[in-house]
Amino acid sequence: MQTALVTGASRGIGRATALQLAREGWFVLVHYHVNAAKAEAVLAELQCAGGSGQVVQADLSDEHQIMALFAVIDALPLRLGAVVNNAGTLYQQTTVEHLTVERINQVFALNVTAPFVICREAVKRMAKKYGGEGGAIVNVSSAASRLGAPGEYVDYAASKGALDSLTIGLSKEVASQGIRVNAVRPGLIHTDIHAQGGEPNRIARVQHALPLQRGGQPEEVAAAIAWLISDNASYCSGSFIDLAGGL
Ligand code: NAP
Repeated sequence: MQTALVTGASRGIGRATALQLAREGWFVLVHYHVNAAKAEAVLAELQCAGGSGQVVQADLSDEHQIMALFAVIDALPLRLGAVVNNAGTLYQQTTVEHLTVERINQVFALNVTAPFVICREAVKRMAKKYGGEGGAIVNVSSAASRLGAPGEYVDYAASKGALDSLTIGLSKEVASQGIRVNAVRPGLIHTDIHAQGGEPNRIARVQHALPLQRGGQPEEVAAAIAWLISDNASYCSGSFIDLAGGL
C-alpha cells in the first residue's frame, strides 16, 4: 500500500477524490485547513467502506506548515506514491480594477505557491535520483485558466493559469524520474466554493449556457483524477482533462 496526499479533502472535489482513492487501495492523507470535523467525517466514511487513511491539518499558504505536513508523511511506514494538489480558493466576485495586492497575494499563495512547494517536496521523495520509486501528481486547475473568469475573479483564473504552466514544466523535468504530472480543469462543480465567491446559486444561473446544460458533481472530477493517478494513465504526462460540461 502507498500513500496518497489529497489537499483540501474535507469538502467538495477533494473529499470525493479521497473517497475514490481509498476505494482503489491507497492510504489517503485527508488534508484540511480549518474544518477538522468534516475531515474526520471523510476519514470515517472511507474507513467504513474498508479504506484506510489519516487526517492532517495545515494552512498551505504557509511553507512551514507544508514542511510539517511532509514530516507527517515521512513518519509513515508507507512510501508517498501520489499527490493531488486540490486545495484552492477564490474571493468575492469583482473586476480587476477593484483587486487589492493583499487579495492577489492570498490567492496566489494557496493556488500557486503551495502547489509549487508541495511538488518540490513530493519530487524529493518520489524521484529515482533521490532513491524514490516514482509517482503521480495531479494538479486541480480550472476551466477559468482558459476562460479568464471576467467580472468574477480574474486573479483566480490567472493563478490557475500558473498552475497549468507548473504542470507542463514539471512534467517534462521529472518524466525521466518516474513521475507523471497531469492536471484536471473542472468547470462548474457543485461545491461550497461558489458561495465563497458570493454567489451560492451561480451554477443555476449559468448552467444553461453549458453544452451539457448542468453543473458537475465532485465525483465526476474525482474519477478523472483517480484515472490520472492510476497505472491506466501510465503513458499520460503533462496532460489536461477538461471536466467543464463541454464548455
Ligand atoms: P471547496 O469545496 O471550497 O473546498 C476547499 C478546500 O480547500 C477545503 O478542503 C478547505 O479546507 C481547503 N482550504 C481552503 N483554504 C486552505 C488553506 N489556506 N490551506 C489549506 N487548505 C485550504 O473547493 P472545491 O470547489 O472542492 O475546489 C477544489 C479545487 O477545485 C480548487 O482548487 C478549486 O479551485 C478547483 N475548482 C473548483 C471548481 C468548482 O466549480 N467547484 C471549478 C474549477 C476548479 P477546510 O474545509 O478546512 O476549510
